[in-house]
Amino acid sequence: MSRSGSLLHNGMMLRLFIRPLLFWVALLAFPTESRAQTLRGSPASVNRIYQQAIDQELSFFPSATAIRESVESGDLVRLTGNADYTLSDVSYPYAVPAAQTFVVRLASQYRSACGEQLVVTSATRPAAMRLVNSVDKTVHPTGMAIDLRKPTNSRCLTWLRKTLLTLNSAGVLEAVEEFNPPHFHVAVFPTQYGSYVSALSGTQIAAAAPAARATTAVTAAPSRSSSSSSSRYRVRAGDSLWTIARKNNISVQALQAANNLRGSRIVVGQTLVIPAR
Ligand SMILES: [Zn+2]
Repeated sequence: MSRSGSLLHNGMMLRLFIRPLLFWVALLAFPTESRAQTLRGSPASVNRIYQQAIDQELSFFPSATAIRESVESGDLVRLTGNADYTLSDVSYPYAVPAAQTFVVRLASQYRSACGEQLVVTSATRPAAMRLVNSVDKTVHPTGMAIDLRKPTNSRCLTWLRKTLLTLNSAGVLEAVEEFNPPHFHVAVFPTQYGSYVSALSGTQIAAAAPAARATTAVTAAPSRSSSSSSSRYRVRAGDSLWTIARKNNISVQALQAANNLRGSRIVVGQTLVIPAR
């Protein structure tokens, strides 16, 4: 008796809450069909990620030496681990600055949500180092991809899936749940993720903020820069578009627009125009 009663109740819950929810989810998803709405991955997803790496003019580092040089020039930064995340068997614990920011932010939220450390299992890999099962279009050699261990705790697993899915929908990264071996492969899109975090900075909004809000922020950013009093900045070791933009309180897109940059690559000694806010 109580069982059928509970089924009936569940049916009502479905009608009252889930359907309107699905409607809103569908509505939000509609204009973003080129973004991943699942964590399943696909050949299209592989192509989207690869295309982002090309569009943003990221380098595919061929060797350990190339990785070391890019760490010196500041194109890649070290994942050091902290109270919120640890690294397990990571040969090259380096990533583009946006991917490092992603790890730090996600790990902090992950630890407060489920009480354990996030585990990074892979970051930059030289193109020469091909793993079994790795696809030809892997972006690990760029440093934009991070592999995360799949939590064994089901509550943590649910949280991680939900959060990555939200970020997928926001179009700031593309996460895929892999099964052999089990892990989450996350390709962080530096420009989009940088703008997303810029838009959130100063406020305490979680990474799981509504996708619509993030999308608005991403598209609204570039037109704001005024021409009143721009300044110049000489790029130093350790700089990235993201750190320079943050230091000057402007968006990465505004910085790119002022300097006619399509991607995120800058070199030490290069002079950048810093647009007025
Ligand atoms: Zn991966």
